[in-house]
Amino acid sequence: MVCNLISTRDVSEREISYSDALLEGLAPDGGLYIPKEYPRISLDELKAMRGAPYNDIAFRVKDKFTDGSIPSAELHTLLNRAYTQEKWGYIGRNIVPLIVLVGGLAIENLSQGPTAAFKDMALQPLAQEMNYELERRNKSLVILGATSGDTGSSAEAAFKGLSRIKVFMLSPKTGMSDFQRAQMGILSGGNVYNISVDGRFDDCQDLVKLLKKDPEFAKLGAVNSINWGRISSQIPYYVSGYLQAARNIGDEVDFTVSSGNFGNVLAGHIAKQMGVPIRRLVVATNENNVLDRLMKTGIYQMTPAQVTSSPSMDISKASNYERLAFDILGRNPKALAKYMQIFERTGKVDLGDFGLNSEVFALNGFRSGSSNHQKRLEEIRRVYSESDVIIDPHTADGVSVARQFVERSVPMVVMATALPVKFEDTIREALGFVPKRENRFEGLESRLPAGAFHEIGIDAEALKSYIRANIR
Ligand SMILES: *Cc1c(COP(=O)(O)O)cnc(C)c1O
Repeated sequence: MVCNLISTRDVSEREISYSDALLEGLAPDGGLYIPKEYPRISLDELKAMRGAPYNDIAFRVKDKFTDGSIPSAELHTLLNRAYTQEKWGYIGRNIVPLIVLVGGLAIENLSQGPTAAFKDMALQPLAQEMNYELERRNKSLVILGATSGDTGSSAEAAFKGLSRIKVFMLSPKTGMSDFQRAQMGILSGGNVYNISVDGRFDDCQDLVKLLKKDPEFAKLGAVNSINWGRISSQIPYYVSGYLQAARNIGDEVDFTVSSGNFGNVLAGHIAKQMGVPIRRLVVATNENNVLDRLMKTGIYQMTPAQVTSSPSMDISKASNYERLAFDILGRNPKALAKYMQIFERTGKVDLGDFGLNSEVFALNGFRSGSSNHQKRLEEIRRVYSESDVIIDPHTADGVSVARQFVERSVPMVVMATALPVKFEDTIREALGFVPKRENRFEGLESRLPAGAFHEIGIDAEALKSYIRANIR
């Protein structure tokens, strides 16, 4: 089977290869790339993967999606460069280990990578694959991004030192923690340019949008979570989680996923469509409960985001939901385009107007719930006292919601999306202390070099001239 991609909104169903989608990001019609057909994974294949190193599992799963557009041997090499011992530390062969908790659930640690958040799982291979493709085509790429914290450091750690790519990352002068600022600032230099904007995250995003409208800068690339390369690199850890949690291959397993832009849990949905015996996918949100309301009512409504103590889930809409909507609307690009147009025009769209209702989510295995600051704190305390494990605030949202859906007969795996070291203030609020840091994070804040950030005002011209001066 050829695993080409189509745009969710393209009625002509023009097909493009994995490599093309990697460099294109968003489709020209505003839709998102998605496989024309999901490849399958058989129970025999799953049995053969049990106990294999993570890199090999990742390779066998991703090879079905890249489908020769990156030759298999090359793909394996790229994944080996993305998931090294050095970057993933002491865990060795299994970089996404399952940790069993009291109460019938387990967490899958996706956050042992270089920046201590699950985004490394996808951005590390994305960077390797993009650089490989650019080399093959003898091209180079300049990426311009805006970050409120996590994505910026994860992207910089992934692209650092790659010859074909330069990264310009805008971050707000106010709103980031010292830890996050240091994580990014330490990576400045070479092909990584950190720019501190005297404003808020929204101002950074507005600057990016402004530059994209200028023909001189329109070609700048992006690495946001809608890139199909990122989503496809998240599918293997559902396979690994399944293999670790299932008693016998073929038994069902449930997953709970702390969600924001819907990228992580979407990968779970695709793993399920491929044939991994996943029963339920529980979508956990924080106070920004757009997705929980969607799953319960069938109404997708944009809502201004509020700042919470699980900040990486603070969203007003969930960009990757478009890919699930494509599947539940019967993979009909015409209906999907109309659905998204209504949402983009009015900020709200109802599945009821498309002959469906909220049941369609349950039928596809989805469940949902939301958490809040109090529940996060309680969950951090409870997991620590019952299981002697310290979880981060985002994972705590997941565990809190997972408890509503745990059943004795089916293992429940909660995705652990960050390490607590990134959110020490909330850990201290919950537990009254913070755990000793791993060596690699010890004294991180004091290692921020002077002048690591180029400082500008909310000033598009200053940004343009800085980029111009550095891409020659
Ligand atoms: C990005 C992020 C999330 C949300 O993941 P989505 O793919 O956007 O749903 C959750 N937790 C942490 C720590 C994150 O960095």
